[in-house]
Amino acid sequence: MNAEESNILVAIRCRPLNQKEIANDDLDIVRVEDNLIIILDPIQMEYEAENKKMLEVYHRSKEQRYAFDKVFREESQDDIFEQTCKQLIKPVMNGYNATVFAYGPTGTGKTYTMLGNQETMGISVLTIRDMFEFIKKDLDNEYIVMISYVEIYNEAIRDLLIQQSQYLELRDDPIKGVTIAGVTEYKAISVQQVMNLLLQGNRRRTTEATNANLTSSRSHAVFQINVTQRSKVKNTEMESMNGKLSLIDLAGSERGTVTENRGLRLREGAKINRSLLALANCINALGDKSKKGFFVPYRDSKLTRLLKDSLGGNCRTVMIANISPASSQFEETINTLKYANRAK
Ligand code: ADP
Ligand code: MG
Repeated sequence: MNAEESNILVAIRCRPLNQKEIANDDLDIVRVEDNLIIILDPIQMEYEAENKKMLEVYHRSKEQRYAFDKVFREESQDDIFEQTCKQLIKPVMNGYNATVFAYGPTGTGKTYTMLGNQETMGISVLTIRDMFEFIKKDLDNEYIVMISYVEIYNEAIRDLLIQQSQYLELRDDPIKGVTIAGVTEYKAISVQQVMNLLLQGNRRRTTEATNANLTSSRSHAVFQINVTQRSKVKNTEMESMNGKLSLIDLAGSERGTVTENRGLRLREGAKINRSLLALANCINALGDKSKKGFFVPYRDSKLTRLLKDSLGGNCRTVMIANISPASSQFEETINTLKYANRAK
Protein backbone atom coordinates (compact mmCIF):
# COMPACT_ATOMS: atom_id res chain seq x y z
CA MET A 1 0.00 0.00 0.00
CA ASN A 2 1.47 3.40 -0.84
CA ALA A 3 0.88 6.77 0.79
CA GLU A 4 -1.63 7.92 -1.87
CA GLU A 5 -4.04 5.01 -1.41
CA SER A 6 -3.69 4.77 2.34
CA ASN A 7 -4.68 7.07 5.19
CA ILE A 8 -1.55 6.12 7.07
CA LEU A 9 1.94 7.33 6.33
CA VAL A 10 4.82 5.52 8.02
CA ALA A 11 8.21 7.24 8.16
CA ILE A 12 11.53 6.31 9.75
CA ARG A 13 13.86 8.92 11.19
CA CYS A 14 17.42 7.97 12.06
CA ARG A 15 19.34 10.45 14.23
CA PRO A 16 23.15 10.89 14.08
CA LEU A 17 25.45 8.83 16.33
CA ASN A 18 25.63 10.55 19.71
CA GLN A 19 28.74 11.32 21.80
CA LYS A 20 28.27 8.27 23.99
CA GLU A 21 27.97 5.95 21.00
CA ILE A 22 31.05 7.48 19.36
CA ALA A 23 33.05 7.13 22.61
CA ASN A 24 31.84 3.53 22.71
CA ASP A 25 33.29 2.86 19.24
CA ASP A 26 29.81 2.05 17.96
CA LEU A 27 29.57 1.61 14.21
CA ASP A 28 26.90 3.14 12.02
CA ILE A 29 24.85 0.19 10.74
CA VAL A 30 22.12 2.13 8.93
CA ARG A 31 22.07 2.73 5.17
CA VAL A 32 19.32 4.55 3.30
CA GLU A 33 18.38 4.08 -0.36
CA ASP A 34 15.35 6.23 -1.18
CA ASN A 35 12.50 4.72 0.80
CA LEU A 36 14.48 1.60 1.71
CA ILE A 37 16.28 1.28 5.02
CA ILE A 38 19.07 -1.27 5.32
CA ILE A 39 20.37 -2.47 8.67
CA LEU A 40 23.77 -4.13 8.44
CA ASP A 41 24.70 -6.99 10.69
CA PRO A 42 26.73 -5.48 13.56
CA ILE A 43 29.01 -8.53 13.98
CA GLN A 44 29.98 -8.39 10.37
CA MET A 45 30.39 -4.63 10.61
CA GLU A 46 33.04 -5.14 13.29
CA TYR A 47 34.71 -7.62 11.01
CA GLU A 48 34.52 -5.09 8.24
CA ALA A 49 36.22 -2.47 10.41
CA GLU A 50 39.02 -4.85 11.34
CA ASN A 51 39.56 -6.50 8.01
CA LYS A 52 38.61 -4.17 5.22
CA LYS A 53 39.49 -6.71 2.53
CA MET A 54 36.64 -9.04 3.42
CA LEU A 55 34.15 -6.19 3.11
CA GLU A 56 32.66 -7.17 -0.25
CA VAL A 57 32.08 -10.76 0.74
CA TYR A 58 30.31 -10.09 4.01
CA HIS A 59 28.86 -6.67 3.58
CA ARG A 60 25.44 -7.53 2.17
CA SER A 61 24.94 -11.13 3.14
CA LYS A 62 23.01 -10.76 6.41
CA GLU A 63 21.57 -7.27 6.17
CA GLN A 64 17.89 -6.57 6.78
CA ARG A 65 15.86 -4.40 4.44
CA TYR A 66 12.54 -2.64 5.00
CA ALA A 67 10.57 -0.28 2.80
CA PHE A 68 8.61 2.66 4.23
CA ASP A 69 6.76 5.66 2.81
CA LYS A 70 9.67 7.89 3.86
CA VAL A 71 13.10 7.34 5.37
CA PHE A 72 14.84 10.38 6.91
CA ARG A 73 18.45 10.68 7.90
CA GLU A 74 19.97 14.14 7.42
CA GLU A 75 16.69 15.98 6.86
CA SER A 76 15.98 19.12 8.88
CA GLN A 77 13.03 19.56 11.22
CA ASP A 78 11.38 21.70 8.52
CA ASP A 79 11.88 19.00 5.86
CA ILE A 80 10.32 16.40 8.12
CA PHE A 81 7.37 18.66 8.85
CA GLU A 82 6.89 19.36 5.10
CA GLN A 83 6.94 15.67 4.20
CA THR A 84 4.80 14.28 7.02
CA CYS A 85 2.58 16.69 8.95
CA LYS A 86 1.96 19.48 6.48
CA GLN A 87 -0.54 17.46 4.46
CA LEU A 88 -2.72 17.08 7.58
CA ILE A 89 -3.23 20.81 8.13
CA LYS A 90 -5.86 21.44 5.45
CA PRO A 91 -8.10 18.50 6.42
CA VAL A 92 -7.90 19.45 10.11
CA MET A 93 -8.77 23.10 9.34
CA ASN A 94 -11.74 21.75 7.39
CA GLY A 95 -13.15 19.60 10.18
CA TYR A 96 -11.37 16.24 9.97
CA ASN A 97 -9.38 14.53 12.71
CA ALA A 98 -5.78 13.33 12.31
CA THR A 99 -3.03 11.84 14.47
CA VAL A 100 0.77 11.95 14.43
CA PHE A 101 2.88 9.55 16.49
CA ALA A 102 6.56 9.56 17.38
CA TYR A 103 7.54 5.98 18.24
CA GLY A 104 10.86 4.46 19.26
CA PRO A 105 13.24 3.61 22.11
CA THR A 106 14.31 6.27 24.62
CA GLY A 107 17.02 8.56 23.29
CA THR A 108 16.28 8.13 19.58
CA GLY A 109 14.73 11.58 19.04
CA LYS A 110 10.96 11.36 19.65
CA THR A 111 10.80 14.54 21.73
CA TYR A 112 13.28 16.28 19.43
CA THR A 113 11.01 15.43 16.48
CA MET A 114 7.72 16.41 18.10
CA LEU A 115 8.67 19.32 20.34
CA GLY A 116 12.21 20.34 19.38
CA ASN A 117 14.19 22.52 21.75
CA GLN A 118 15.06 26.20 22.25
CA GLU A 119 17.19 26.16 19.06
CA THR A 120 14.99 24.16 16.71
CA MET A 121 11.21 23.87 16.47
CA GLY A 122 9.71 20.39 16.25
CA ILE A 123 6.70 19.45 14.16
CA SER A 124 4.11 20.33 16.84
CA VAL A 125 5.21 23.94 16.81
CA LEU A 126 5.74 24.04 13.03
CA THR A 127 2.15 22.80 12.70
CA ILE A 128 0.86 25.73 14.75
CA ARG A 129 2.95 28.11 12.62
CA ASP A 130 1.47 26.64 9.45
CA MET A 131 -2.07 26.84 10.83
CA PHE A 132 -1.63 30.56 11.49
CA GLU A 133 -0.44 31.01 7.88
CA PHE A 134 -3.47 29.07 6.65
CA ILE A 135 -5.84 31.26 8.71
CA LYS A 136 -4.25 34.46 7.37
CA LYS A 137 -4.84 33.36 3.76
CA ASP A 138 -8.45 32.19 4.23
CA LEU A 139 -10.62 35.28 3.87
CA ASP A 140 -13.93 33.39 3.92
CA ASN A 141 -13.68 31.69 7.30
CA GLU A 142 -12.68 32.47 10.85
CA TYR A 143 -10.99 30.00 13.13
CA ILE A 144 -10.44 29.36 16.79
CA VAL A 145 -7.42 27.19 17.66
CA MET A 146 -7.41 25.67 21.16
CA ILE A 147 -4.61 23.53 22.57
CA SER A 148 -4.31 21.00 25.37
CA TYR A 149 -1.38 18.89 26.53
CA VAL A 150 -1.68 15.80 28.74
CA GLU A 151 0.37 12.77 29.63
CA ILE A 152 -0.77 9.19 29.99
CA TYR A 153 1.38 7.55 32.63
CA ASN A 154 0.57 4.14 34.04
CA GLU A 155 -2.88 4.31 32.39
CA ALA A 156 -3.72 7.58 34.19
CA ILE A 157 -4.21 10.95 32.44
CA ARG A 158 -2.66 14.14 33.87
CA ASP A 159 -2.79 17.72 32.63
CA LEU A 160 0.64 19.05 31.58
CA LEU A 161 -0.52 22.68 31.29
CA ILE A 162 -0.98 23.13 35.05
CA GLN A 163 1.00 22.38 38.20
CA GLN A 164 0.02 19.25 40.10
CA SER A 165 -2.83 17.98 38.02
CA GLN A 166 -5.54 15.63 39.27
CA TYR A 167 -6.25 12.50 37.31
CA LEU A 168 -8.54 13.23 34.38
CA GLU A 169 -11.23 11.02 32.89
CA LEU A 170 -12.28 10.42 29.29
CA ARG A 171 -15.81 11.24 28.13
CA ASP A 172 -17.60 10.18 24.98
CA ASP A 173 -19.44 13.30 23.86
CA PRO A 174 -22.06 12.67 21.13
CA ILE A 175 -21.15 15.93 19.35
CA LYS A 176 -17.53 16.62 20.26
CA GLY A 177 -16.40 12.98 20.21
CA VAL A 178 -13.87 11.82 22.81
CA THR A 179 -13.00 14.56 25.30
CA ILE A 180 -10.93 14.77 28.46
CA ALA A 181 -13.16 16.07 31.26
CA GLY A 182 -11.75 19.18 32.95
CA VAL A 183 -8.63 19.47 30.79
CA THR A 184 -6.98 22.90 30.51
CA GLU A 185 -7.38 24.48 27.09
CA TYR A 186 -5.48 27.54 25.90
CA LYS A 187 -6.34 29.60 22.87
CA ALA A 188 -3.29 29.51 20.60
CA ILE A 189 -2.27 33.09 19.89
CA SER A 190 1.37 32.86 18.80
CA VAL A 191 4.04 30.35 17.87
CA GLN A 192 6.21 31.48 20.79
CA GLN A 193 3.36 31.13 23.31
CA VAL A 194 2.66 27.55 22.18
CA MET A 195 6.37 26.66 22.17
CA ASN A 196 6.72 27.95 25.74
CA LEU A 197 3.60 26.09 26.95
CA LEU A 198 4.86 22.85 25.40
CA LEU A 199 8.40 23.18 26.77
CA GLN A 200 7.01 23.93 30.23
CA GLY A 201 4.51 21.06 29.96
CA ASN A 202 7.22 18.67 28.81
CA ARG A 203 9.22 19.44 31.97
CA ARG A 204 6.20 18.30 34.02
CA ARG A 205 6.19 14.89 32.37
CA THR A 206 6.78 11.94 34.61
CA THR A 207 10.29 10.80 33.91
CA GLU A 208 11.91 8.01 35.84
CA ALA A 209 15.55 7.07 35.81
CA THR A 210 16.15 3.59 34.41
CA ASN A 211 19.37 1.79 33.75
CA ALA A 212 18.93 2.29 30.02
CA ASN A 213 18.83 6.07 30.13
CA LEU A 214 18.78 8.55 32.99
CA THR A 215 16.15 10.75 31.38
CA SER A 216 14.03 7.86 30.20
CA SER A 217 10.46 8.91 29.70
CA ARG A 218 7.82 6.42 30.74
CA SER A 219 4.81 8.47 29.70
CA HIS A 220 2.94 9.21 26.50
CA ALA A 221 2.63 12.98 25.90
CA VAL A 222 -0.48 13.97 23.95
CA PHE A 223 -0.68 17.45 22.42
CA GLN A 224 -4.11 18.16 20.93
CA ILE A 225 -5.04 21.03 18.65
CA ASN A 226 -8.78 21.67 18.36
CA VAL A 227 -9.81 23.85 15.42
CA THR A 228 -13.26 25.45 15.02
CA GLN A 229 -14.06 26.87 11.60
CA ARG A 230 -16.94 29.29 11.02
CA SER A 231 -17.93 30.98 7.78
CA LYS A 232 -17.52 34.75 7.64
CA VAL A 233 -19.51 35.15 4.44
CA LYS A 234 -22.52 32.88 4.95
CA ASN A 235 -25.33 33.27 7.42
CA THR A 236 -23.95 33.47 10.99
CA GLU A 237 -26.43 30.79 12.04
CA MET A 238 -24.38 28.28 10.02
CA GLU A 239 -23.00 25.41 12.01
CA SER A 240 -19.31 25.50 12.82
CA MET A 241 -16.92 22.66 11.97
CA ASN A 242 -14.51 21.02 14.37
CA GLY A 243 -11.24 19.34 13.47
CA LYS A 244 -8.72 17.83 15.87
CA LEU A 245 -5.04 17.07 15.43
CA SER A 246 -3.37 14.85 18.05
CA LEU A 247 0.44 14.87 18.18
CA ILE A 248 1.80 12.14 20.40
CA ASP A 249 5.27 11.67 21.84
CA LEU A 250 4.98 8.01 22.82
CA ALA A 251 6.75 6.45 25.80
CA GLY A 252 10.03 4.69 25.08
CA SER A 253 9.41 1.41 23.30
CA GLU A 254 12.31 -0.45 24.94
CA ARG A 255 11.32 -3.56 26.83
CA GLY A 256 11.38 -4.07 30.58
CA THR A 257 13.90 -6.83 30.10
CA VAL A 258 16.31 -4.54 28.31
CA THR A 259 16.35 -2.04 31.15
CA GLU A 260 16.60 -4.81 33.76
CA ASN A 261 13.89 -3.18 35.79
CA ARG A 262 12.34 -4.68 38.86
CA GLY A 263 9.10 -4.17 40.75
CA LEU A 264 7.16 -0.98 40.09
CA ARG A 265 9.20 0.15 37.11
CA LEU A 266 8.78 -3.21 35.45
CA ARG A 267 4.99 -3.09 35.86
CA GLU A 268 4.99 0.38 34.34
CA GLY A 269 7.00 -0.98 31.49
CA ALA A 270 4.45 -3.73 30.99
CA LYS A 271 1.61 -1.20 30.96
CA ILE A 272 3.43 1.06 28.55
CA ASN A 273 3.98 -1.88 26.29
CA ARG A 274 0.31 -2.74 26.61
CA SER A 275 -0.60 0.72 25.29
CA LEU A 276 1.87 0.41 22.44
CA LEU A 277 0.58 -3.07 21.66
CA ALA A 278 -3.05 -1.85 21.80
CA LEU A 279 -2.09 0.95 19.43
CA ALA A 280 -0.44 -1.47 17.01
CA ASN A 281 -3.51 -3.75 17.16
CA CYS A 282 -5.85 -0.84 16.39
CA ILE A 283 -3.74 0.44 13.51
CA ASN A 284 -3.38 -3.08 12.21
CA ALA A 285 -7.14 -3.76 12.33
CA LEU A 286 -7.86 -0.45 10.62
CA GLY A 287 -5.31 -1.06 7.90
CA ASP A 288 -6.82 -4.43 7.01
CA LYS A 289 -9.34 -3.27 4.42
CA SER A 290 -10.20 -6.82 3.37
CA LYS A 291 -12.26 -7.27 6.55
CA LYS A 292 -15.42 -5.17 6.53
CA GLY A 293 -17.12 -4.55 9.83
CA PHE A 294 -13.98 -5.68 11.65
CA PHE A 295 -13.46 -5.10 15.36
CA VAL A 296 -11.00 -2.39 16.41
CA PRO A 297 -9.89 -2.88 20.04
CA TYR A 298 -9.91 0.79 21.10
CA ARG A 299 -10.94 -0.04 24.67
CA ASP A 300 -7.76 -1.97 25.43
CA SER A 301 -5.85 1.10 26.67
CA LYS A 302 -6.34 4.75 27.67
CA LEU A 303 -4.30 5.88 24.69
CA THR A 304 -6.45 4.07 22.13
CA ARG A 305 -9.69 5.11 23.89
CA LEU A 306 -8.57 8.74 23.68
CA LEU A 307 -7.85 8.34 19.98
CA LYS A 308 -11.05 6.47 19.11
CA ASP A 309 -12.38 9.34 16.96
CA SER A 310 -8.94 10.20 15.53
CA LEU A 311 -7.82 6.88 14.04
CA GLY A 312 -9.41 5.12 11.09
CA GLY A 313 -12.43 6.20 9.06
CA ASN A 314 -11.43 9.29 7.12
CA CYS A 315 -8.84 10.30 9.71
CA ARG A 316 -5.26 10.49 8.52
CA THR A 317 -2.41 9.03 10.55
CA VAL A 318 1.32 9.68 10.44
CA MET A 319 3.74 7.43 12.31
CA ILE A 320 7.36 8.55 12.66
CA ALA A 321 9.48 5.72 14.06
CA ASN A 322 12.77 6.97 15.48
CA ILE A 323 15.98 4.94 15.59
CA SER A 324 19.67 5.23 16.48
CA PRO A 325 22.24 4.22 13.83
CA ALA A 326 24.51 2.56 16.42
CA SER A 327 25.58 -1.09 16.24
CA SER A 328 24.88 -1.49 19.99
CA GLN A 329 21.20 -0.62 19.32
CA PHE A 330 20.75 -3.32 16.66
CA GLU A 331 18.05 -5.28 18.54
CA GLU A 332 16.01 -2.20 19.46
CA THR A 333 16.29 -0.87 15.93
CA ILE A 334 15.01 -4.10 14.41
CA ASN A 335 12.14 -4.19 16.96
CA THR A 336 11.23 -0.62 16.05
CA LEU A 337 11.26 -1.31 12.32
CA LYS A 338 9.09 -4.38 12.83
CA TYR A 339 6.55 -2.40 14.85
CA ALA A 340 6.47 0.34 12.22
CA ASN A 341 6.19 -2.26 9.48
CA ARG A 342 3.00 -3.64 11.07
CA ALA A 343 1.45 -0.18 10.89
CA LYS A 344 1.86 0.19 7.12
P1 ADP B 1 13.56 10.56 23.06
O1 ADP B 1 12.51 11.60 23.25
O2 ADP B 1 13.23 9.59 21.99
O3 ADP B 1 13.95 9.88 24.32
P2 ADP B 1 15.23 12.86 22.51
O4 ADP B 1 14.34 13.57 21.56
O5 ADP B 1 15.25 13.38 23.89
O6 ADP B 1 14.89 11.30 22.53
O7 ADP B 1 16.67 12.82 21.87
C1 ADP B 1 17.82 12.41 22.60
C2 ADP B 1 18.97 13.37 22.29
O8 ADP B 1 19.35 13.27 20.91
C3 ADP B 1 18.61 14.82 22.53
O9 ADP B 1 19.73 15.48 23.08
C4 ADP B 1 18.31 15.35 21.14
O10 ADP B 1 18.56 16.74 21.05
C5 ADP B 1 19.25 14.54 20.26
N1 ADP B 1 18.68 14.31 18.93
C6 ADP B 1 17.64 13.51 18.64
N2 ADP B 1 17.38 13.48 17.32
C7 ADP B 1 18.29 14.28 16.73
C8 ADP B 1 18.55 14.67 15.38
N3 ADP B 1 17.80 14.21 14.36
N4 ADP B 1 19.58 15.51 15.15
C9 ADP B 1 20.32 15.96 16.18
N5 ADP B 1 20.14 15.64 17.47
C10 ADP B 1 19.13 14.82 17.76
MG1 MG C 1 11.50 12.08 25.00
